[in-house]
Amino acid sequence: MKKYNPNFLFFTLICFILATSVVDAQDNLRIVRGKIDTLKAMPGAIHYITGVVPIGTTVYVNGTPVKVFKTGSFGAEMRLNEGENPVEIKAERDGSSTIEKFSVYLVKPMPTDVLPTVSDYPGVVVSTKERAYLNYGAGEDRLGGAKINFLSSGIKMELIDSLRALYKVRLSDGRYAFIPKSLVQREPAGTRPAYSLTSSWSVTKSNNMDVVRVALGERLPYIIYQEMEPRRVVVEIHGAANNSNWITQYLDLEAIDYVDFNQVSHDIFRVYIYLKDKYSWGYKAEYAGNSLVISIKHTPQPAYKGSLAGLKIGLDAGHGGRASGAVSTSGIKEKDLNLAMVYMLKRELEKRGASVVLSRSDDSDLTMYERVDIFDAAGVDMMVSVHCNAGGNPLRPGGTSTYYKHIEYRELAKSVLESLLELEVKNFGLVGNFNFSLNAPTFYPNLLVETLFMSSLEDEELLADPMFQSMMMKRVVTGLEDYMKKVKSSLKKR
Ligand SMILES: [Zn+2]
Repeated sequence: MKKYNPNFLFFTLICFILATSVVDAQDNLRIVRGKIDTLKAMPGAIHYITGVVPIGTTVYVNGTPVKVFKTGSFGAEMRLNEGENPVEIKAERDGSSTIEKFSVYLVKPMPTDVLPTVSDYPGVVVSTKERAYLNYGAGEDRLGGAKINFLSSGIKMELIDSLRALYKVRLSDGRYAFIPKSLVQREPAGTRPAYSLTSSWSVTKSNNMDVVRVALGERLPYIIYQEMEPRRVVVEIHGAANNSNWITQYLDLEAIDYVDFNQVSHDIFRVYIYLKDKYSWGYKAEYAGNSLVISIKHTPQPAYKGSLAGLKIGLDAGHGGRASGAVSTSGIKEKDLNLAMVYMLKRELEKRGASVVLSRSDDSDLTMYERVDIFDAAGVDMMVSVHCNAGGNPLRPGGTSTYYKHIEYRELAKSVLESLLELEVKNFGLVGNFNFSLNAPTFYPNLLVETLFMSSLEDEELLADPMFQSMMMKRVVTGLEDYMKKVKSSLKKR
């Protein structure tokens, strides 16, 4: 007897999804996308229609036969004229045919731009709550505006403006940022914005990280990022003036080469932390009392062997529960594919001696914060989030892509993308500065893998195949191994 294998369950699950996602015999033709009554666009806009039919059906769109994929999905494109655009879809099987007719009306859009209302708050000071973060601007997209970084709680800043769900706050003279209104509280009238002299520093080694402590009179806003040439972590403390006349640095440091600072303007104090190693394993800044504590992780031991064995790797299957993610034309849900692929990835990584921490191990719905908390609590060395993409032209392959936010994790995302492209799928690209919540952490290298497009009929056919899913996940592991080899060759013998 074969012993019980949890992965087998997921293969079975996926096969079941595939078997049930295709329309049943009664349902001869289902339009999935493009049956829209009115569309606001300029004349000549391309309109896509996709649908699903039982296997063995021939489909005609406005009299022209179109390809039906193994999943039963089909699609067509048309250029819309102003006014009525009639569509006729005919599905023929076993001598009988089903016809569906509808029209898409194209209406030219009216300009609708309205200037945002802006108001002033003279002398009002707000302070940060837990999980507060700064945005560069008031821009918004699907994933929220572009984040600068998270901030500790209890940091006071002057309120300048209000824009929808955001406050504009002052970091220092002439420097502003935006912060969600829900993540700050108003301080009593008469509260002054934070300002402080810097006091003594210490630079010490702890268990698996080096730690820089900068003592301040009160909690000030900060911006933290890594630069590549030279390799250093930069922490800009706003509202601070230098009065540090004592910087204790121990000589047993592992990650930090040395520290330095620059008073770049009268109220911006910049801390430079120069790094020994080429590849970053994580850093963060947070307050303990009124001291800003900047932690720089050591390169983990397995990196010196250039292998994944001994690393603790976080794996995140996107979406889950009520959040299906993208749904393909034939009805496959992204959340199910993501979970099945994460289990494949887990098995391959464990074979290589890595330990794996999953954000979700079943069909549950977790928030982004819950996912990050799981990886933080586990102290992962690295994190991979697995999703499937959607959008664009359903009649063309969408392709594979990997994503990072912070420049120091670009090489990791690049290594995995290069490995995935060995499968000869379309290259959708290496995407940087990506504003995805699981790319935001700086405390461990991380990347997002968008395997292929659920919305592309060709990609869907590949994604629906468990063999192909498995091949993709093996390529992800090879990409991680390639990265570890690069890390090893960059390390100086110690
Ligand atoms: Zn997704």
